[in-house]
Amino acid sequence: MAFSNSPLSLYLHVPFCSIKCTYCAFNTYINLDHLIEPFVQALVKEIEILGESKAAQVVHTIYLGGGTPSLLSSEQIARILNAIHLKFVVLPDAEISMESNPRDLTPEYMEAIRDIGINRLSIGMQSANAHELELFARRHDNEQVSEAVVAARSGGFTNLNLDLIYGIPAQTLDGWETSLKQMLAHQPEHISLYALGLEDGTSMKAWVESGKLPAPNDDLAADMYEIASDILEADGYRQYEISNWSKPGYECRHNLQYWRNLPYPGLGPGAHGLADGIRYSTILSPQRYIRALQEATGHFEFPRTPAIDQSIILTRETEIADTLLMGLRLTEEGINRANFAERFGVDPVDLHRLLFEKFVGYGLLEINRERVRVTRQGRLLSNMIFRELV
Ligand code: SF4
Repeated sequence: MAFSNSPLSLYLHVPFCSIKCTYCAFNTYINLDHLIEPFVQALVKEIEILGESKAAQVVHTIYLGGGTPSLLSSEQIARILNAIHLKFVVLPDAEISMESNPRDLTPEYMEAIRDIGINRLSIGMQSANAHELELFARRHDNEQVSEAVVAARSGGFTNLNLDLIYGIPAQTLDGWETSLKQMLAHQPEHISLYALGLEDGTSMKAWVESGKLPAPNDDLAADMYEIASDILEADGYRQYEISNWSKPGYECRHNLQYWRNLPYPGLGPGAHGLADGIRYSTILSPQRYIRALQEATGHFEFPRTPAIDQSIILTRETEIADTLLMGLRLTEEGINRANFAERFGVDPVDLHRLLFEKFVGYGLLEINRERVRVTRQGRLLSNMIFRELV
């Protein structure tokens, strides 16, 4: 799909959590519940400014991420979605996703958010093992995940995502299989598996550095990835991205937009966005974000809003590099050669022939008339391929 014709994917960052998980480096804050309502008002204003900056923009996916969007009331979420519907042309079959903590998902809440248009729910499961959830300082248990899935199904959700984390310090292969099997018992339409990263500023990293916890074992994590690939495939899931699997037809359309390097304006504190050749990030602090929107007047040129903190105008070379790197994450689709040539006027294979042929020789990449993509073996070594490409 050509970049200029693509409908938009809107990302909305909700920066509040009830507790800071020990591995998490996202832009999220605890003990700021009193800012939730001013934040919602500021976000609505940011949506209005973005929508008014360019007429008749078509939106095909909306994603409420965070943070913990399920800390917002259904009435607050309804106001946010109404603002989008008023200022953008939201396609009737738009995918509207929301991340959630299982503990927030009562049957009443689920029914209410389904009624206002949320049609895809992501439930942060992370693990089925109590000691791992405790290590993460998660505020839910396995029972609450089961209850949340049951409530989501009876509330009418037919598109659920569950997340799991692997490569946890002291995690065993048996423990990992337990988590996978518990998750599969829920038969979500979509599954994301994330390798634990030790991010700067997190408790988890400090514990590993001080020797309180063993360092994650990369070889074991690779085995966990392989086991998961086999188990999920045998259960009818198709891997379509390095970390994502789905039942056929349930690939996350919002995330596909990122991997195809198509436009995704980001709103809310600490969001990242890309549109009209500009890549940007917004103000991190919820307080400063709210103030910037309260004080905002005048017209802004798309995709700029008063919340933007840093931005760069992308060169053609950067866009090409980003499109290649993101495309290689798509394990089935890969880099579509015709789409790439239409967008940049050059075949990706002509751009990197020697490098691509080297990885084909190693069995890590495959090239055919339509696409360039990683092989199953290449999925495990994708970071090495990405490094050489840039
Ligand atoms: S709930 Fe999610 S966003 Fe919030 S601290 Fe935990 S991992 Fe981070």
